[in-house]
Amino acid sequence: KLYNQVQDLKGNIRVYCRVRPFKPGQSNTLSSVDHMDERTITILTHSKNGKEARKAFTFNKVFGPSVSQAEVFSDMQPLVRSVLDGYNVCIFAYGQTGSGKTHTMTGPKELTEEGLGVNYRALSDLFHISNQRKETISYDISVQMLEIYNDQVRDLLSADGVNKRLEIRNSSQNGINVPDANLVPVSLTSDVINLMSIGHKNRSVCSTALNDRSSRSHSCLTVHVQGRDLTSGNILRGSMHLVDLAGSERVDKSEVVGNRLKEAQHINKSLSALGDVISSLASRSSHVPYRNSKLTQLLQDSLGGQAKTLMFVHIAPEYEALGETISTLKFAERVA
Ligand code: ADP
Ligand code: MG
Repeated sequence: KLYNQVQDLKGNIRVYCRVRPFKPGQSNTLSSVDHMDERTITILTHSKNGKEARKAFTFNKVFGPSVSQAEVFSDMQPLVRSVLDGYNVCIFAYGQTGSGKTHTMTGPKELTEEGLGVNYRALSDLFHISNQRKETISYDISVQMLEIYNDQVRDLLSADGVNKRLEIRNSSQNGINVPDANLVPVSLTSDVINLMSIGHKNRSVCSTALNDRSSRSHSCLTVHVQGRDLTSGNILRGSMHLVDLAGSERVDKSEVVGNRLKEAQHINKSLSALGDVISSLASRSSHVPYRNSKLTQLLQDSLGGQAKTLMFVHIAPEYEALGETISTLKFAERVA
């Protein structure tokens, strides 16, 4: 409760930054990151005449390359737990392909206990706390796993493949929802691990090695929580969207054609729509442009109002990535 009060005073949008370590064997590579501390990251750039320049960006929190998955999650834990108190929460992983978004949200390809990402840790923690409260509140927790590809919503937990396009509905009873997507009750971390592996399989059915769909679609694990107070009978509802966004890299329009160009345009449009929504919320603008993409429509009732948003931007440390790094940091600056 105290946490919520403190956060409410600061507003409901937080921006974190995580810097991926160099790949193995890459330790002598030049880095674009000059300096990091708890809240700022300083980027090294060179001007046209080769002179060094530095630019600092400030966040609510900066995680360096050696910070563990457990440490990252422990910082987000109060935010995650607020779902059990009836808050709506959105956590976004933003950054260029290869910057570590999936690592943060899911974990490395070969999953180990300590490698488990936010998605697993968040659900385990919700199970743990709901169990602790079971004498007073009875919780039902269920999940959906959706993909937004080319501005179309698909069900990653569908048994007959992900090809059916789904509609986003808005009802007075359930708020924004996707009624035709599977909604699966979960109570154990192993349930979540099984479901996520089905989701990942469904996603990769649509891709080849050269055509990595996962970096060009948004994936969203949505957790629905319903709690019933055993004394009063009151019902409280919260939801949490854990979103691994499509890669934010700009695609050179002269180099891609056809489907690839269409994908790039959809990604561009949806990420800027997301930026527009969050920055208009951050500046307390009276009009919030939710309608401009399926992504922002889907998340509408978890962005703004009492909802809590965490934009988690990811940075690749290599100097070659400088252009994308700066554009990621500028995106973050805009929504902060
Ligand atoms: P993205 O999802 O943004 O495309 P990935 O999460 O797939 O990027 O990360 C690219 C590679 O870097 C993966 O092999 C991943 O395991 C590794 N990686 C990313 N972040 C970290 C980290 N914080 N610690 C260790 N390895 C990481
Ligand atoms: Mg990824």
